[in-house]
Amino acid sequence: MGFKDELLAFSHAKITFDQPMKKITALGVGGNAKYLAVVDSLYSLNFLVQTAKRFKIPFKVFGNGTNLLVSDKGYDGLIIKTGGLCDVFFKRDQVRAMAGANLDAVIKFATEHRLSGLEPLAGIPATVGGAVVMNAGAFGRSISDCITTVETLKQGKIKVYDKNQCAFGYRKSRFLGKKEVVVSATFNFSKREREKIIADVKRYSSVRKSIQPIGKSCGSVFKNPIGQSAGLLIDKACLKGLKIGGAQISMRHGNFILTDNTATACDVYQLIRTVKEKINELFGVTLSEEVEYVGEF
Ligand SMILES: Cc1cc2nc3c(=O)[nH]c(=O)nc-3n(C[C@H](O)[C@H](O)[C@H](O)COP(=O)(O)OP(=O)(O)OC[C@H]3O[C@@H](n4cnc5c(N)ncnc54)[C@H](O)[C@@H]3O)c2cc1C
Repeated sequence: MGFKDELLAFSHAKITFDQPMKKITALGVGGNAKYLAVVDSLYSLNFLVQTAKRFKIPFKVFGNGTNLLVSDKGYDGLIIKTGGLCDVFFKRDQVRAMAGANLDAVIKFATEHRLSGLEPLAGIPATVGGAVVMNAGAFGRSISDCITTVETLKQGKIKVYDKNQCAFGYRKSRFLGKKEVVVSATFNFSKREREKIIADVKRYSSVRKSIQPIGKSCGSVFKNPIGQSAGLLIDKACLKGLKIGGAQISMRHGNFILTDNTATACDVYQLIRTVKEKINELFGVTLSEEVEYVGEF
């Protein structure tokens, strides 16, 4: 049996072929994924990873696709979406969330149980898996601040990492760019009055809404250089509003690129390159991408 036959014979995950990745990424651009699977169990996840490895088929795990720029040529391999693996529950006195759970669902669960810690991250459209890998954060707080352990699937076995083994840094962790799949994370929250937690969630969400542009984007395109703001540099360089094809630098926030329905991945890529060149030329600063490229550019 070939790889496709094995997928067709496997009935424990939703598997489709030649699917447009613009539908599963926040930027809404990019070509087709040759194979796309949505998993709702560790069994399926493990089967797919092991089968892809056995057939030497490239694979990549997707959360909500909110930090990814997928090439117009698509992805010649297997995309595994963790969306169905989304339980959030108590493990002894700590909260454990599966990789495909939305971050907001974890915050809601914690709030219901009067547990506080991730309020500043409210509104980040990430899954737990994507947020752990990227060490997502906002308003001076990162997901790693509340993590005790991360559980992964490594060579068919569950491996548990203590927080200090995860190499968390500014928008990075040891899992970034690796084939190890994050399956869950365990959080240590502090007790707090529910009304205060709700008030903070509302406050952070409304600040987010007031600074973040409306439309399709990947959030911040660039990491902030040490001691500087990428958005401010882009603003100073008068690049706000710059447009290539259907991709445009937001007028509201210089570090956001918005796409319209005509945009291609190439438009976004060219815009990123143009910004990098201009910022380097004007300020001698090399911006590095927070957004991750998937496929060939
Ligand atoms: C409107 C908007 C606002 C945003 N605001 C913020 C913000 O305030 N702060 C911030 O930090 N980010 C922000 N982001 C960026 C993005 O949401 C984060 O980077 C987030 O962590 C990505 O999560 P995801 O589930 O979408 O991951 P994806 O984009 O799907 O994947 C990101 C990376 O994680 C890997 N990955 C995903 N799941 C797994 C898994 N289970 N196991 C192994 N690898 C995995 C992928 O392969 C990829 O390398 C924003 C994005 C948007 C669109």
